[in-house]
Amino acid sequence: MGESTDAMAQETFTFQTEVGRLLDIVAHSLYSHKEIFLRELISNASDACDRLRYAAITDPNLIVGETEFKIRLDVDKDARTLRLSDNGIGMNHQDLIETLGTIARSGTQAFVSQLTGDAKKDVALIGQFGVGFYSAFMVAEKIEVLTRKAGEDKAWLWISDGRSQFTIDEASRDGCGTTVTVHLNEDGEEFTEQARLHAIVKKYSDHIGFPILMEKDDKPETLNAASSLWTRPKKDITPDQYKEFYHHVGHTFDDPWLTLHNALEGVLSYTSLLFVPSAPAFDLFHPDRKSHVKLYVKRVFITDDCEGLLPAYLRFLRGIVDSEDLPLNISRETFQHDPRLAKMRTGLVKRVLDELAKKAKGAPEEYDNFWTNFGAVLKEGVYEDFENRDRILDICRFRSTAGEALTSLDAYVERMKEGQDTIYFISGEQAEALSRSPQLEGFKAKGVEVLLLTDPIDEFWVPAVGAYKDKRFKSAAGAGADLGKIAGGEEKGKTEEAESEDTAGMDTLLAALKLALGETVKDVRVSERLTDSPVCLVAGEGDMDMYLERMLKQHRQLDSSMITARILEVNAGHPLIKQLAAMAAEGDGAGEALGDAAHLLFDQARIVEGETVSDPIAFSRRLASVMEKGLAAWERRAT
Ligand code: ADP
Ligand code: MG
Repeated sequence: MGESTDAMAQETFTFQTEVGRLLDIVAHSLYSHKEIFLRELISNASDACDRLRYAAITDPNLIVGETEFKIRLDVDKDARTLRLSDNGIGMNHQDLIETLGTIARSGTQAFVSQLTGDAKKDVALIGQFGVGFYSAFMVAEKIEVLTRKAGEDKAWLWISDGRSQFTIDEASRDGCGTTVTVHLNEDGEEFTEQARLHAIVKKYSDHIGFPILMEKDDKPETLNAASSLWTRPKKDITPDQYKEFYHHVGHTFDDPWLTLHNALEGVLSYTSLLFVPSAPAFDLFHPDRKSHVKLYVKRVFITDDCEGLLPAYLRFLRGIVDSEDLPLNISRETFQHDPRLAKMRTGLVKRVLDELAKKAKGAPEEYDNFWTNFGAVLKEGVYEDFENRDRILDICRFRSTAGEALTSLDAYVERMKEGQDTIYFISGEQAEALSRSPQLEGFKAKGVEVLLLTDPIDEFWVPAVGAYKDKRFKSAAGAGADLGKIAGGEEKGKTEEAESEDTAGMDTLLAALKLALGETVKDVRVSERLTDSPVCLVAGEGDMDMYLERMLKQHRQLDSSMITARILEVNAGHPLIKQLAAMAAEGDGAGEALGDAAHLLFDQARIVEGETVSDPIAFSRRLASVMEKGLAAWERRAT
């Protein structure tokens, strides 16, 4: 930085550890699109202009002198430098330390947290995330940031070689804004070619709403279209331009799956340019459930997260909404209560849901992919948005026992069996494991389809909705599955012989099991839903779903004293149960063996549910004892 700076005033800082790791990768990056650093710097300059323009609405004094926002690009071939200046909001000392010394942006934070240490993989990740300002170190041996914040007198010079430290000096600058000077390294030499720079700006930054100027033959030339992309007619915008805008506005790096560009004129006039990403963002399930659609008023950027503009269940959307009606001179907070905002929201939601419905119908495979990415979020709307509940339910998709493919509720209803008047579901963590649940055996035997619900939100919307087109939702793991009413399949579960021969024994067995298990079960009864497994647990009528209970327990929302006792169902046709029934019928001396069997069966049913055994020590003692007896019998037979 030369001797000219005042050594007294200079401060030296060390980059936050995460930034250090990031810079390390950036420096050794084999990244093939080094040119994207320019997009990142321009994007920052544009954001800075947006922010000052907004701040100046309430405080016009912030803008002194030059009133046109612009971004300037200068190259010095001899010095091998590239300089990008904006007259945006600028940064003060504190801002510099907070933003260019740490990882302020959650996106970059997520990037760093995914770093593996394996250079190849990590470099591939950069492509997916983009690393903002720091990407300039791919092409730089040194970067200087000269900046002055709007409304402040002092300017600051930030300098770093992108290794481990940066310095900050007091400096001076005409007017507010930021000038980033990139001292290009050998790899970066190409970025002193004016034609190359022009092409890069055209490719990545054409949509930027402020002019990007470069001096050519002593005349400033505007390199980009310099009008906000969404204000241009749709037919004049190429898919690539939409894509680049999406990257800029959403801080995303995938391709948009859906692009919805719409201008409305009428009682309310607004333009929306919304994107549905093709990949889920890292923070999709962050508890703040923040929207990522920016609000503009008459082309002026207002806010990134306008609460009330879109419902939380559409938080996967990226893009902008530009209103002609909202007043410019009110605070961000006031917007939330403006009835016009609520009206826009209604219109936007309708538009998005309509487009999704079109895709669901016209391009089911693409839609399934969308659903896999965002279905769990969209389903929150079934629970939260009463007005649009039916529209959302129509475009919900589910895994089911009918096969690998996702199904809609309508398609499920069409496949319902004669006599079936309910939509059966079972909930748990994993579709694959769920489909093998003992509770589903009887359903399978009859060919009755069961939806496999694996998203936590399912536990909330299903009870809230109750029914779809007059067909009630019913848990296949709950009481009264009413399988008897449904036609079809051989009745493998209820074997007639069991009923005729051993009813007496079975009744005694049920009584013995009940006696042994006491309060731990609500009831013990013969199952109509088991065909292969000896036992399973089901929830009693009106009792909390077993999966929900387990979830709440995991999240410590439920203490163990509130756990509901379950019904133990036994498969009367199963050889083990038959033998136990015979034993129970004989009476004398069977007491202890039946007691052990009762607990083992109960624990087995719990294990299948994904629960732990209630008393591991007693469990292992009983298991050992039963195995011992089994082996003794085997030995007797062998000799
Ligand atoms: P992002 O733009 O996604 O926030 P960056 O790494 O690109 O992440 O930039 C980090 C931060 O540095 C920005 O959020 C902003 O606060 C600040 N910054 C960068 N460039 C400028 C600029 N030209 N003017 C004002 N602030 C800037
Ligand atoms: Mg940026």
